Amino acid sequence: MTNLDEVAPNIFRVQGTHVNMVILRDGDALTLIDGGYPGDVGAAESAIRALGRRPEDVQGLLLTHAHIDHMGAVADFHERYGIPVYTDPIEVAHLRRDYLEQATGKDFVPMLHRHGVLPWLLRIARAGATKKISVRDGLAFPATGLDLPGAPVPVATHGHTSGHTAFHLPQHGVVVTGDALVTAHPLSKISGPQLLPPVFDHGHGDTAAALDHLAVLDADIILPGHGPALTMPVADAVARAQERSSAH
Ligand SMILES: [Zn+2]
Repeated sequence: MTNLDEVAPNIFRVQGTHVNMVILRDGDALTLIDGGYPGDVGAAESAIRALGRRPEDVQGLLLTHAHIDHMGAVADFHERYGIPVYTDPIEVAHLRRDYLEQATGKDFVPMLHRHGVLPWLLRIARAGATKKISVRDGLAFPATGLDLPGAPVPVATHGHTSGHTAFHLPQHGVVVTGDALVTAHPLSKISGPQLLPPVFDHGHGDTAAALDHLAVLDADIILPGHGPALTMPVADAVARAQERSSAH
């Protein structure tokens, strides 16, 4: 199964279209963190079936943030199976699409001459990047904490969107960073820990503050929204990303 790799015991990275989904397994039960593009639903489903499970075995759907490239299987599984969707209290309204904090086609026009931008746009369009989807009844993280397979702990990392969240998996020293910290992106020339190109961010400036919340976590495996998993103390990865973002 090429689109599925186990980055730590019972923690799986699933590759969608230039974007990652994460499966947490606890016995027969699963948690899905992020769901790729609408066109990545099949990839999510086949990864789950490769683990010998069914989408119905997912107990909860978690969203780092309500951008279309992370919502695909989350919205689909919610609709098809009634699995609850949880996200940050601030992000719930974004998920409903009361407003949209996402770059759209016109934001990329000034970049079209750059190498790789047009093929990337065409590829994500085929994956459903221009579809309009929402989840009307997403839930805010319970104040008492999440009780889901894999024991994910939300870490507020507001900035990329107003309610962006990372998820810490303390027993395995893993942090799912979403788009607060990535390791590669088709529009980035560098690999390794970095911020996304600024065109993707809603709240410029806050993305730097969000990194401070990651740096204090006890984690040495980074599982980002975009790019491969990285084994490195998260404080070091944050320091590298900060160096690089201040360099340009
Ligand atoms: Zn993203």
